[in-house]
Amino acid sequence: MIGPAGRVGDGPLEWPPHYIRCVIILGNYTLDTPTTEVYNGSMEDMNLIELLDRFPDEQSCRDFIQERRWPDEITCPQCGVIGKAYKYTSGKNAGKLFKCASCRQQFTVRVGSIFEDSKIPLRKWLLAIYLCTSIKKGVSSIQLSKFIKVRQATAWFMLQRIRHVFETGSFEKLTGEVEMDEAYIGGKDSNKHYHKRLKQLTGKGAQGHGSKNSKTPVVGMVERGGKLRAVATKDTGSNTLMTLARKNIDIDATIYTDEHMPYRTLPKIGFKHASVNHGAKEFVNGMASTNTAESFWSHLKRGIDGIYHHVSAKHLQLYCDEYTFRWNTRGMTDGERFEAWFDNINGKRLMYKSLTNKRS
Ligand SMILES: [Zn+2]
Repeated sequence: MIGPAGRVGDGPLEWPPHYIRCVIILGNYTLDTPTTEVYNGSMEDMNLIELLDRFPDEQSCRDFIQERRWPDEITCPQCGVIGKAYKYTSGKNAGKLFKCASCRQQFTVRVGSIFEDSKIPLRKWLLAIYLCTSIKKGVSSIQLSKFIKVRQATAWFMLQRIRHVFETGSFEKLTGEVEMDEAYIGGKDSNKHYHKRLKQLTGKGAQGHGSKNSKTPVVGMVERGGKLRAVATKDTGSNTLMTLARKNIDIDATIYTDEHMPYRTLPKIGFKHASVNHGAKEFVNGMASTNTAESFWSHLKRGIDGIYHHVSAKHLQLYCDEYTFRWNTRGMTDGERFEAWFDNINGKRLMYKSLTNKRS
């Protein structure tokens, strides 16, 4: 058996007290003894084995989601009233169903979340979230369908919902030294830089959303040593880029870009700007490089080409959010990243509704 440190062959393992406690409580009857008093250890270093220990049954998943959605008082997902709902403690719905004393409606922990309208057991959902947050290159719907034994179409829809929560929704502006760069994602050709793209932009292989092989521009903005944002856009013209810069970057920041012409407008709207000429094979001009952004692009492209193969323009933003989330949390352990995903879950209810309305 693999110990809590998740390593095999390291000699005798020191079992931390919380893990021993967990084993004692569970005994050999993990599935027969539904209890929430399992795996008391921190999620910080939680590996796959410990995840399965932590969530031995549906009730442990329900309790965890309840704690994440309503850490203080329960907010009724039907009428929005706080602190008026209670959980059934007896009868066949004990632990499963809530009732709001204000609107008299009953609800489960799934209502108003990405788990709503899904018949998939919560254990499978939590496992999918763990895999999706911890596998660096991403997990395909085919892989996921095998891992958790669901149909591929189901796995695909689960992943789309999980991705929806990756969006940070942060309006804090990027500061200090910020690299801004654009990449073209999708289609068959992986050209990126302006001088290479020129032919495409002006010639036969022009961009567009209609063709299956067309590419979609993504604009990346990354604070050196800090957070990254990636936004799928319709074009990389001056208006689009300046709007993104104003919205996402602090006016006192210095922006480093490549030689793409529209970036020359940056000083006109008040930013300090320096550029590097990739066309002249110049990759570092003093402090002006876009190397951090480059390394994100190569990661994103390898993932999308290797794992997802083709991503339509319509869904590209969701994939960008997935890679951005893992990039921005790369200093975290898998357990911490799993928890961080749940930090975003509450703000996603409304947006989730709009996603399901657009399902196709
Ligand atoms: Zn209510």
